[in-house]
Amino acid sequence: MRPSGKLHIGNWLGALTNMVELQASYDCIYAAVDVHALTTDDGGAPESLRENVNEMVLDWLAAGIDPKESTVFVQSAVPEVMVLHTLLSMMTPLGWLLRVPTFKDKVRQMDATEESVGYGLVGYPVLMTSDIILYKADTVPVGEDQVPHIELAREIVRRFNFRYGDTFPEPQAKLTEVPLVVGLDGQAKMSKTLDNHVELAAAPEETKKKILTAFTDPERLRKSDPGRPWVCNVYALHKYFTPDQTDEIYEQCTQGTRGCVDCKGILADGVNARLADLRDKRRDLEKHPDYVQDILLDGANRAKEIARATLEEVQEKMGLSSATLEGK
Ligand code: SF4
Repeated sequence: MRPSGKLHIGNWLGALTNMVELQASYDCIYAAVDVHALTTDDGGAPESLRENVNEMVLDWLAAGIDPKESTVFVQSAVPEVMVLHTLLSMMTPLGWLLRVPTFKDKVRQMDATEESVGYGLVGYPVLMTSDIILYKADTVPVGEDQVPHIELAREIVRRFNFRYGDTFPEPQAKLTEVPLVVGLDGQAKMSKTLDNHVELAAAPEETKKKILTAFTDPERLRKSDPGRPWVCNVYALHKYFTPDQTDEIYEQCTQGTRGCVDCKGILADGVNARLADLRDKRRDLEKHPDYVQDILLDGANRAKEIARATLEEVQEKMGLSSATLEGK
């Protein structure tokens, strides 16, 4: 996951809960991909990049990512991924990369042109492929918008395996059950940049204040007006945070007997109740920064072991020398 600092409820519902659940059935490897963060200007200053990594890892651990079950580390702590990225770049046609929809979207968002953006942005999916196949991962939990990247990773793997013999499994996308969480503005995906989000680590009062600003049914002006919960994003969030109250809310909304302010208050209480344990655990982890750093160091060492073996195999198959690899 790209480190963007403190995670929000959209990240939690859309990705993090799935990452936690997968630990029961897979040997999971979770990296904070800080090199990817450098592909756009919002990678930010070095101090904020490190801070963003730390904040995100705190949310992971607080949400239930267990460092005994999973390998948790920071991407740049395993530089082998950058070597593999370079090698895969040699065999990935530029045309494949230029037609990836997220590349075109990103160029538009940056108000740039395909010629003016950095090479790293074009090569983003190649680095992502390296992140996946360096560990010979066969399953990748992603949101819907990342599916084209996994498709591309499969194409690169097929090309590599065809040229150099079976080396990597073709990775499969594992879609989360809640692929898209709309922001409080009801307009777009929940995002920190659009400030339409609720942070997992927010205080209960802050959570309530934020939810009270949420966009609802625009045609409902008074409490007595029958509402349309099916167009209301507050109602959509109720389904996740107060599932036992959704039938009642639906009825009261459509009959015009439940006011929106009241309805948002119930949602805020539900969000605060659901996140109470996570927030307690996060506060505790914040008091022990050395413990978190040890987890990342241990994770990087475990990841490096796999990475070195894969890279050695790749270099051997490609006819390159592996004698300069660290530790050889
Ligand atoms: Fe949405 Fe609730 Fe208002 Fe109905 S009562 S429009 S579900 S906020």
